[in-house]
Amino acid sequence: MCVFCKIINKEIPSYTLYENDYVFCFLDISQATKGHTLVVPKKHVQNIFELDEIEAAEIMKATVLVSNILKEKLHVENINLLNNSGVLAGQTVMHFHLHVLPRYGNDEIDFHQVEHEPNFEDLDKLYAILKA
Ligand code: AMP
Ligand code: ZN
Repeated sequence: MCVFCKIINKEIPSYTLYENDYVFCFLDISQATKGHTLVVPKKHVQNIFELDEIEAAEIMKATVLVSNILKEKLHVENINLLNNSGVLAGQTVMHFHLHVLPRYGNDEIDFHQVEHEPNFEDLDKLYAILKA
């Protein structure tokens, strides 16, 4: 059984912020920033591709709820939502989870993207593939 399934089954303790029939929300053990929380479906699914509609909706509902807890209790006003699906994307626990990551002016997180000039030839080709 995976580590998050053990947490959901309460075989491993966690700092649970919220749970219902579908989702479980708990503090990330390694707080990237203060209040860093994970929202996970109770059903073991590996990644974004395995989520069904109901779980996806419940995850987003719980994410809004958790975000408002962080806002109310920690006065958080800035948040990143992050999911790593797949090893190349940085996934280490193979049970879907959404990181709710409060952001502060002095934190050390950097999601800065390299900016490119738009290449419309490539965009046209890509769009043709996606829409075919
Ligand atoms: P990811 O790299 O997206 O797969 O993230 C996995 C996250 O799970 C990391 O941020 C870990 O700190 C967190 N994590 C791993 N084990 C536990 C645990 N027992 N309780 C809470 N968070 C955990
Ligand atoms: Zn699991």
